[in-house]
Amino acid sequence: MEEILLLGPGPSNTSQRVLNALAESTVGHLDPLFLDLADDLQKKLARLMKADGGMTMFVSGTGSAGMEAAVLNTVEPGDRVFVCVNGVFGGRMAEVSRRAGAEVETVEFPWGEPIDPQKVKEALAGKSFKLVGAVHAETSTGAVSPVHEIAPLAREAGALFLVDCVTSLGGMPFERDEWGIDVAYSGTQKCLSCPPGLAPLTFSERALEVIRNRETPCRSWYLDLALLLQYYTGQKRVYHHTAPINMIYGLNAAVDAIFDEGLEKVHARHRAAHEALVERLGALGLEMFVTEGSRLPMLNAVTVPEGVDEAEVRMRLRKEFKIEIGAGLGPMAGKIWRIGLMGTNARAEVVDQLANAMETCLAVKS
Ligand code: PLP
Repeated sequence: MEEILLLGPGPSNTSQRVLNALAESTVGHLDPLFLDLADDLQKKLARLMKADGGMTMFVSGTGSAGMEAAVLNTVEPGDRVFVCVNGVFGGRMAEVSRRAGAEVETVEFPWGEPIDPQKVKEALAGKSFKLVGAVHAETSTGAVSPVHEIAPLAREAGALFLVDCVTSLGGMPFERDEWGIDVAYSGTQKCLSCPPGLAPLTFSERALEVIRNRETPCRSWYLDLALLLQYYTGQKRVYHHTAPINMIYGLNAAVDAIFDEGLEKVHARHRAAHEALVERLGALGLEMFVTEGSRLPMLNAVTVPEGVDEAEVRMRLRKEFKIEIGAGLGPMAGKIWRIGLMGTNARAEVVDQLANAMETCLAVKS
């Protein structure tokens, strides 16, 4: 396969360290070597998600599998679920909850804006729910939401608080315990610089208690935490499904790379790359779609200037420069480009490479 610089909304490029790990010999999914590595990875993910106690693990499948595992394990048919929606992925969380048989209420925010805790408070007033959900980093718009301010509101409504950290994990601070989050899931192909295929997933002790007291079995057999835990924890290691062994090596190497560099340093590197990009694109006359202060560092939504064919620019970048950037989704189609600076791609050289190529494609002199 040709090497393409992946600066879209994900996947990002896989680091060499992760590629090397993926190429290690496959062992059996009940082999003690593999089980030790999987146990170790669970501990490392708990450290990455700042999650002490409860259960932190990973499920087979991409970020969407994490979303389904989070919802289907906590929600039973007839439960009331409240979802904050400010883009595609909040909308999906609501849809997954509906398919889980929940009665779903949503509060909507304009695309490109963060979730406003005051409006959430008003919408929740006097009501109770089983689960309140929000997306930390809304990849469809490039906006970050103050999930730590929504957590106490969820608790007041008697609900578990569910957060999507697919895009944020590894690229900016995320703290399950400090922020009062009960359930969170992520993906491997964004700031972890690993291919798509696993979903880190965490449950607080409070969430586990709710799961233990379910009256009906989880509606997904494949993602049923009760069954998965019989394999991933405990002495017996009961076969459930064949774990994606090499992907687990890859994720393990990805998390090791983050800790070797230092988590705070990794976050700072993402922020610095974002700032450099805003400056370089600003010099080309390009504007960011999201207001300063609510911008994600790893996913930069850039407004397509009047009269520019956004698809043509993306095609030229891909063909002439071997760089991929993303288009807008849903109502943002044709209006924004989504530029990811995720994981190993959050570097000044990468920003320069993209900005120089954009300059040529836009034929603008800086
Ligand atoms: N949630 C968010 C915020 C995402 O950005 C994505 C993917 O881009 C998903 C969920 C779904 O993840 P996946 O495409 O890995 O299934």
